[in-house]
Amino acid sequence: MFSKTEITRFSNILTPFYYYQLELLKATLDAATKASKPFNYHIHYAFKANTNTEILELIQSYGLGADCVSGNEIKKAITCNYPPEQIVFAGVGKSDTEINIALDNNIFCFNCESIPELEVINELAVKKNKIAQIALRINPNVNANTHHYITTGLEENKFGINRWELEEVLTVLEKLKNLKLIGLHFHIGSQITDLTAFKGLCLRVNEIQEWFYDHQIIVDHINVGGGLGIAYENPKQNLIPDFNAYFKLFNNFIALRPKQQLHFELGRSIVGQCGTLITKVLYVKKGVNTNFVIVDAGMTELIRPALYQAVHAIENLTSNSNEINRYDVVGPICESSDCFGKALMLPTTKRGDLIAINSCGAYGEVMASQYNLRDLVKAVYGKLDERDKGQGKVVSETNNS
Ligand SMILES: *Cc1c(COP(=O)(O)O)cnc(C)c1O
Repeated sequence: MFSKTEITRFSNILTPFYYYQLELLKATLDAATKASKPFNYHIHYAFKANTNTEILELIQSYGLGADCVSGNEIKKAITCNYPPEQIVFAGVGKSDTEINIALDNNIFCFNCESIPELEVINELAVKKNKIAQIALRINPNVNANTHHYITTGLEENKFGINRWELEEVLTVLEKLKNLKLIGLHFHIGSQITDLTAFKGLCLRVNEIQEWFYDHQIIVDHINVGGGLGIAYENPKQNLIPDFNAYFKLFNNFIALRPKQQLHFELGRSIVGQCGTLITKVLYVKKGVNTNFVIVDAGMTELIRPALYQAVHAIENLTSNSNEINRYDVVGPICESSDCFGKALMLPTTKRGDLIAINSCGAYGEVMASQYNLRDLVKAVYGKLDERDKGQGKVVSETNNS
């Protein structure tokens, strides 16, 4: 996955760091936009997956909109030249300050999750003498068959408005004169690799649309959220998700009314594979049944394994041993969950070797912390043009070995 030149470059950079292959991001964006174009679908990039300026600007240059979940993400979207009419704002707990940021920037749509939220947005819109465009986020009660921490579309989850509340929502909306209902929004979860879950979503959306039709409502926009998964276990064979199959499935199963537009909010499938966490081996320690490879990155740089039991493919980039050994690859943080992989078969590994933890572009760097008062992890960019020299994000390339 990495060229000799890249590995040589890595050995001169202070570890740990995130490395982003912008060429792969471009290829992924090419594939996603080509696959959606025949259907005129709108893709909003889910900012929460990765908010590095270089990445956001590249994504914007392909015409994607922004799916934001905080006021600061909206501000960042504006700074990175995302047009306000392509910005949507989701979240169960939008604060007054955040709602005001969205109103001031005239964003396209608030994805609303409860009656109290509708009332507050209306109240703040009245004060500014504005009309807020809204979509109702409806809980479709579809099982995404993914990890329970990233399942969002079941009635037991905190997200969205449930079916039985819709009647009341419509009654309330009639009184909220500064809200304009323009869409219906759905999102069933993340890292979904079995497309049949999306077929289930389409059929449920069709039913819900019928319900609205019976109430004389046809909205202009249907937003089916994100969630398309990536290949964590064998990334090299599947660097780019199958966007063709994904968009085709929606085209086959969702019943749109004339002029209705379909929107997607993709995060992981856009940026997941282009990022890699590069870390260095500090010690190899003998254990009882296994040996521990202790690396200089931990859950402070990548929390997904500790938080969601996520699996990332791990490789030794610099060992030239032909012998294979079994190792647990762990970080230096004082938590037992600070482990990147158990019983991995790697070539004989020694202090100073460079280790790549693959498929970390989404929900990696954005969740980094300074727990244990560690330095915040840095980002390095693969050559595209001269982008990788910008934004002060490049760490000084000094050799620390
Ligand atoms: C997180 C999230 C997304 C993006 O999910 P991915 O799995 O990264 O594609 C889209 N929409 C909403 C509402 C989300 O919360």
